Amino acid sequence: MTAFRVGQGLDVHRFRAGRTLRLGGVTIDAEVGLDGHSDADVALHAVTDAVLGAIGAGDIGDHFPPTDDRWRDADSRLFLQHAVGLARDKGFSTASCDLTIVAERPRIAPHRERMRRSLAAILGVDENAVSVKATTCEGLGFVGRGEGVAALAVVLLVSDE
Ligand code: MG
Repeated sequence: MTAFRVGQGLDVHRFRAGRTLRLGGVTIDAEVGLDGHSDADVALHAVTDAVLGAIGAGDIGDHFPPTDDRWRDADSRLFLQHAVGLARDKGFSTASCDLTIVAERPRIAPHRERMRRSLAAILGVDENAVSVKATTCEGLGFVGRGEGVAALAVVLLVSDE
């Protein structure tokens, strides 16, 4: 019997000068990066929480506490790989991933395909099963003021066992 599990993820990080900007597992040439204990890849954090949510395995902070020095400046691809591994242990593989990045800057479109490839590789799916979308906040709120970036993700997992 086919079983489905869906999960959502939301994350926010503020901009900080002097940091490398990582989004969706790729490095983006930008004037500022994002602040955080790890590499602060807000997009991967949202996708990781979506996978963890789908299998009822808590959230990213449970697995990778920001108080743990092991994860300082960590590559967030490790977090998503861990979550995908937990799902696999439960018999689930990824069916699809839909990611929305909310930012006034930088422009996401030029980097979208690289992010899709990066996410697809970690999730173990075809690029066609991964969507990376972007929107601004029309100048409103913390995103609109250019203070940070938000990301939302929905992941569908499937099991044939
Ligand atoms: Mg985060």
